[in-house]
Amino acid sequence: MAYSEEARSLRLCTAARRDGQPCRAWAMWDDPLGRCVVHAGRGHRGPLAPGFAPSVHARYVPCRCRAYAWPHRPGGGLCRWPEEPLYRLTTLAGTRAWWRR
Ligand SMILES: [Zn+2]
Ligand SMILES: [Zn+2]
Repeated sequence: MAYSEEARSLRLCTAARRDGQPCRAWAMWDDPLGRCVVHAGRGHRGPLAPGFAPSVHARYVPCRCRAYAWPHRPGGGLCRWPEEPLYRLTTLAGTRAWWRR
């Protein structure tokens, strides 16, 4: 995943750490204040045994720019979110899994 500088600043946690430094964690897609898991108070407190970390899929608002014909993860592949894509995939939606047919 390659974010542009603008996308990166949009995606970083907006909260500050206890020592005053800006938090460098990624913000959660669904936090209205753009905070990371810890600063939104949703992080697990206390140690987790290896292998017991909850497997939570990243939730995000799909990007609908013209890079792909389907909603996709912002900044993924050809998508240059939040900018317009330079290239777009000409594959039509629903034809991605042609090898599964
Ligand atoms: Zn944070
Ligand atoms: Zn996009």
